[in-house]
Amino acid sequence: MKIIRHKDFRVEENTYHRLDSIEDVEEFYGAIKRETLTHKLSSERPFCYWTLEVYDKENGIRGGGGLGVLAADTRRVAEQLQVPFVMITPFYPWESHQKMQNMEQTDYHVEKNYADFGFNLVDTVSIKTSTTAVELAVVEKQLGTTRFLCVTEPNFGELYSGESGSDHRLYQEVALGFGGYQALKLVGLKPAVIQLNEVATFFAAIARLDELVSSGMDFYEAVVYTRKHTLYTNHTLVQAAEAMFTFRQFEQYVFPNVKSSAVRRWLAEKFTDGRIKLSTPTIEIAELRSGVSKLHARVANYRDINGNRVKFKAITNGIHVDTWVLPEIVEYYEKNGILDKFSLPTEDYQEKVEKVSAEDIRYLKNLGRVKLNEILQDRTDQYGNPVHIPEDALLFDFKRRFVDYKRPWLPFTDYERLADILEKNDAYYILAGRVHLGDATMFGELMKLLKLIDGHPVLKKRVSYLPDYDEELGYGLSLGSNVAINTPIVGLEACGTSWMKDIANMGLLISTHDGGVADMPADNYLNIDGRDEAEEVAALYEQMDVAAQAWRNDFDLEYWVHKELAAYLPVISGARMMKDYLTYLF
Ligand SMILES: *Cc1c(COP(=O)(O)O)cnc(C)c1O
Repeated sequence: MKIIRHKDFRVEENTYHRLDSIEDVEEFYGAIKRETLTHKLSSERPFCYWTLEVYDKENGIRGGGGLGVLAADTRRVAEQLQVPFVMITPFYPWESHQKMQNMEQTDYHVEKNYADFGFNLVDTVSIKTSTTAVELAVVEKQLGTTRFLCVTEPNFGELYSGESGSDHRLYQEVALGFGGYQALKLVGLKPAVIQLNEVATFFAAIARLDELVSSGMDFYEAVVYTRKHTLYTNHTLVQAAEAMFTFRQFEQYVFPNVKSSAVRRWLAEKFTDGRIKLSTPTIEIAELRSGVSKLHARVANYRDINGNRVKFKAITNGIHVDTWVLPEIVEYYEKNGILDKFSLPTEDYQEKVEKVSAEDIRYLKNLGRVKLNEILQDRTDQYGNPVHIPEDALLFDFKRRFVDYKRPWLPFTDYERLADILEKNDAYYILAGRVHLGDATMFGELMKLLKLIDGHPVLKKRVSYLPDYDEELGYGLSLGSNVAINTPIVGLEACGTSWMKDIANMGLLISTHDGGVADMPADNYLNIDGRDEAEEVAALYEQMDVAAQAWRNDFDLEYWVHKELAAYLPVISGARMMKDYLTYLF
């Protein structure tokens, strides 16, 4: 079978690239050397992806961070590649937001109705607790070869409402696992494979095991069968940090939903001192296990029930290119033979990347800046004021969830130096973040930063904080900012995907060597190196100078953009990720 080449493909305006015919799909599968795949996956036996979190605003489901972005992108890539795919996830009836006025933050909640986002009600299913039954609505939305299959009910709450070991969280996880499995049967589907996006989805595998055993399969055969068809994707580094549930909680929420006494016994054996971490039984029930970058798969420290270190297959996250990259840049990549119609890098993409000129980069980046400013029109800063970045000014950004290990304060360590760099380069700095609801420590850190900025005339003029960080802001900043700053403590970022959005949109990346960035050698981007935090801070400011210099000098700009694209386009490609998953699964 021949691999599709770019020259066979015409770029048309406003197309959301799909494979156009079944022959195209066959060619894709042929290209990944899996001719038998179509026999294993079908519309009745799809790839079933369970996740507690999806970040897909267009479809009414808002996640909390990278795990949800990955889930949404995985479905979009599956749709683009015409993979039969079902995403089983809750439809949350409530969603939390933040706004700021005069540095005072207010949290507010928005009610969501699935019908407003094109979901149809299928029917209801029910799950049990020890004292009652809960009816869940099953709603679905078809998108090409993929669909959302959601469970929901008015008291389901928000994403991550309740502490991670709380009754409510367990209820949500049980509802998604057992309720979601019933939903699948309701619409007449059988899973070809189950992907568990983190351990919160573990009960889906138990629902399947329970069904096999209850319908007469020998218990051990059922375990072997379930194991072979279940992939557990881990995004967390340390098992120690995981929340625990008690046996009493299981008696109340889990066991009433398990028909087979053998399955209940099997689960009960996984408790130690009356407590359980869901990763323990998840590792037992999933023979396939993946981590989300090379580094993460290597360092994730998980033990199985016998105390043996668990091995994870590295499948680095990718992004759905059409979603996160300026359409003109996608078109540019395709016209110039850098990406093919699947958003996979072409065979000779590295040679083609060398021809990307500074003039093209600047032109495309300017279009991105216009788009960013459009998005900023609907946003306000920490004072409640609108933000506009001059078209010709240099823009640095730091856009992340506000969590400790990402170190949003790092660039402010020597704030006079930061102010100097911004002033002498006529540069601006946007800090976009979201503090987890109830995280008082990080909220305190944020307030400290905002006060510092408020008290410094240069910083006050050049630094803006944008609350309620979401995918629209993530998109806009990837398009319109010149330099992105990524400073996780090395070893703590599982993968990260916002840096991928920055590189794909031809921005410069300043980063520590961590997560998916560390899939490639550190000389491919503006690396922050250092033996301790003080050295890292010094390196960060040096690289900010280098980046500012590069945006003034065509030769340097081309040098860094070529480096980044040549090294990372294969990593970034969501189609590459899907290809890796399919190859691992089948
Ligand atoms: C891309 C994106 C993420 C992923 O961020 P990382 O910090 O790179 O993991 C999280 N949230 C939003 C809103 C995003 O757009």
